[in-house]
Amino acid sequence: MHETSRPTAGQDQSNSRCDDTCDVIVVGAGFAGLAAAIEASTNGASVVVLEKMKAAGGNSIISEGGIAAAGTSRQQRRGIDDSPDLMYRDMLRAGMFLNHPELAREVAVKSAETFQWSIDCLGVEYLDRIDQFGGHSVLRCFTTTDVSGASIIRRQLEKLEELRASVRLQTCLTRLILSPDGTVSGVEVREGFDPREPGSGLTKNLYARRAVVLASGGFGADVAFRSVQDPRLTADIDTTNKASATAEVLVQALRIGAMPVQLSHIQLGPWGSPDEKGYGAGPRFADYVVFQLGIVVDPRTGGRFVNEMADRKQLSDAILAVGLPCIGIADARAVEVSGWDISRAVQKGVVKTFPSLSELASHYGIPPDGLEATVARFNGHVANGCDHEYDKPMLEGFGPLEQPPYYAIRLWPKVHFTMGGVHINSQAQVINLDGRPIEGLYAAGEVTGGVHGACRLGSCAITECLVFGRIAGRNAAARNA
Ligand SMILES: Cc1cc2nc3c(=O)[nH]c(=O)nc-3n(C[C@H](O)[C@H](O)[C@H](O)COP(=O)(O)OP(=O)(O)OC[C@H]3O[C@@H](n4cnc5c(N)ncnc54)[C@H](O)[C@@H]3O)c2cc1C
Repeated sequence: MHETSRPTAGQDQSNSRCDDTCDVIVVGAGFAGLAAAIEASTNGASVVVLEKMKAAGGNSIISEGGIAAAGTSRQQRRGIDDSPDLMYRDMLRAGMFLNHPELAREVAVKSAETFQWSIDCLGVEYLDRIDQFGGHSVLRCFTTTDVSGASIIRRQLEKLEELRASVRLQTCLTRLILSPDGTVSGVEVREGFDPREPGSGLTKNLYARRAVVLASGGFGADVAFRSVQDPRLTADIDTTNKASATAEVLVQALRIGAMPVQLSHIQLGPWGSPDEKGYGAGPRFADYVVFQLGIVVDPRTGGRFVNEMADRKQLSDAILAVGLPCIGIADARAVEVSGWDISRAVQKGVVKTFPSLSELASHYGIPPDGLEATVARFNGHVANGCDHEYDKPMLEGFGPLEQPPYYAIRLWPKVHFTMGGVHINSQAQVINLDGRPIEGLYAAGEVTGGVHGACRLGSCAITECLVFGRIAGRNAAARNA
């Protein structure tokens, strides 16, 4: 980038100074933004990534690193019969058919090649296991070896360095700059921005010769914005998101006429525990062990009330309908068979261990007879090979709950993912209120809406961010090239 004055007037004529220019400006240094930057650089564009925080990574870096991909060679080697079409149908069923079909299809169709790209191009390594999380109909979820999105982010940043593209930290987008014909030509930022002081930093204008890509993530931590969309989601409801997950970039896109999509569809993570802040350590036990191999009960009765392998919306809604934290239970065998390390959650005391079901019941105030009867019924379903009550699929390793110690967690949903955002087409162009692309503006990742409809399936966000980040980056680089 070089300092140059640019006579073109911005939207605000009084502040049209140009402090810097490059081909493609990417806003946000998470999975989507870094994927866009890599692809734009690879395609010959000079790229600058703007990141408001002191470090890159956004929510991506604290994610569990789970990525869904259909029809991969790894699945084929294990005899798992999967296809992009099946993944697409799973996404639509969970999304209550509110998904924009062309976007969901793009994610499913490109999932396997994108997963492979993360291995071949970035060098990301995955565990030698494939999981099936709630709402997926087959095993198709892969997890990075460090069980974290941090390894993907690290590899993306290394790749960008190789490509000589830079990430500018503490640089916060405050406004999109338009040319007189309505094309997005740049951004106004605050350089030296301190996240603790909203108005901090020096105002600068950066111009893009080709395009701007918005990849600023969701708004799960923006209580003011999210509670307007869904008034239940006040500050009393915790979130798994980092404090940086706020709506200001989305708001700027709406200000210049981007079409909003389904902003009130906000996902609650059913595996959240009220016994710790944020995402925490409990979800690995709840999502990876309890939901797959154990049970969730209503503490007032000790009875089950839902298929624990249902999608996140069904599970969260069912827990909220109970009206107080529910109890997720697994036994020593389930923990062992799952292969997941849950020791951190146990050490934190979020997951508790009990030598018997009656002691577990007494700790949580569950009627012991009710719980004993529920477990006996569940074990009967296991013996019969079919859960007649709730239709929970019996995965590999499924077994009766009978081996102490018993492990348990209190569950209360937390704001996790915002399905809504700006409207894009399958070329990642941002669409305006008249249904036409806004020239010079692309978007990818959680800032967009439509891919997941009413409910995102687990592991599908990373797939989405990489698929659409790459599309946005490639198209941004090709524009006016
Ligand atoms: C705890 C947790 C675990 C998860 N685990 C998984 C998982 O295993 N699998 C899965 O598929 N999904 C998972 N998700 C969801 C997934 O991680 C996110 O949807 C995804 O990381 C979003 O990526 P993104 O690039 O769109 O946004 P982000 O990664 O959030 O990046 C956006 C970036 O933009 C920056 N930004 C925002 N506003 C501005 C501004 N005004 N100016 C400059 N920069 C700005 C932010 O600071 C941030 O760094 C998880 C989410 C959480 C919170």
